Amino acid sequence: MVAVLAAPLAAWAAPPPPSVVRPTYYVQPLGEVADAHARFACRVVRETFDLPCHVLRARPLPRSALDRRRNQYDADALVAQLFDQLPHDGAGLVAITNGDLFERGQTRFVFGLASLVDHVGVVSLARYRGTWWGDTVDAVRFYERYYKVLVHEVGHTLGRAHCENRHCAMRDDRTLADLDASPQRFCAKCRDALTAAARENPGTAMWHYTRGHGHLNRGRFARAVYHFQRAVELRPGDAKMVNDLGVAYLRRGDTGRALWTFREAARLDPAFANPRYNEGLVFLGAGDPRRAAHAFEDALTAEPTWALAHKQLGELYHLVLGEEARALAHYQAYLETHGDDRGVADQVRMIKGGGRAAAP
Ligand SMILES: [Zn+2]
Ligand SMILES: [Zn+2]
Repeated sequence: MVAVLAAPLAAWAAPPPPSVVRPTYYVQPLGEVADAHARFACRVVRETFDLPCHVLRARPLPRSALDRRRNQYDADALVAQLFDQLPHDGAGLVAITNGDLFERGQTRFVFGLASLVDHVGVVSLARYRGTWWGDTVDAVRFYERYYKVLVHEVGHTLGRAHCENRHCAMRDDRTLADLDASPQRFCAKCRDALTAAARENPGTAMWHYTRGHGHLNRGRFARAVYHFQRAVELRPGDAKMVNDLGVAYLRRGDTGRALWTFREAARLDPAFANPRYNEGLVFLGAGDPRRAAHAFEDALTAEPTWALAHKQLGELYHLVLGEEARALAHYQAYLETHGDDRGVADQVRMIKGGGRAAAP
């Protein structure tokens, strides 16, 4: 008996490492959605992307996303809110709704919308039926349209952008006629990218890295730090991830850790200019313009044509350190790529004309 039990006990005692956890895709009904429609979405995800799929319990359509004047839901707002619904093992999540959607600043309506980085999106069923357009639509046509929008939006949630190939399901369709003419299949390039993306497990460095950016963009710095830390643990030596962890520390107000982290990123990749530039921002915030200038100069050693660093140095030398010759050189280097920046051009004229702005 003991011997028989030993194997499963040992398996429970040692949970599988995150890399072998099977990612799951989630379908989130928003408002009243027929079970058959939610299940259809999961079946398509399983068959098209070879991902296990689970239908979540329906949630109400958030009234905060309703534009009463248009009687439509703000798809951007829905996608922003869905970011928090993605479970920790979620490869992606698509919400299904009967609400009609619009995209801010865009056309009258959208069939769906998704984020390319947050792994979440929404699909509306409102526009496929005859009732909306005044003609009758059979079930086959309805499901054809639904299928096309669904695989397209799920493709976005797996990180795929629009495709130039008109014979690809990732092409951008804005009207029902476009949608009806749209192919159901992906081109070879999108197909390969999506197959690889579907294999990218939740809990990997890249997954945590994109979650970190999602939180950073929403001003949730503690959570951003957590995800970037996990990313760095899982992929030590990735200078870009270490740099972005430093940014999250800095935004959280932890300048000591930020500085140490930027230096680590610069050590990992000496040709990477960003952490050196960010180090300059730390010194600038700490009221040490001289060391800030050194750090920005270091960034330019790594990337000599970086316009932002030239501008930053021009202003620092000109307005804070009072070194006009150096300021002029950096302003001029900046203007080589940003000749239309009249503010900087004015500063250059001021220095050349012998005028002094804030020099002591
Ligand atoms: Zn699209
Ligand atoms: Zn394509």
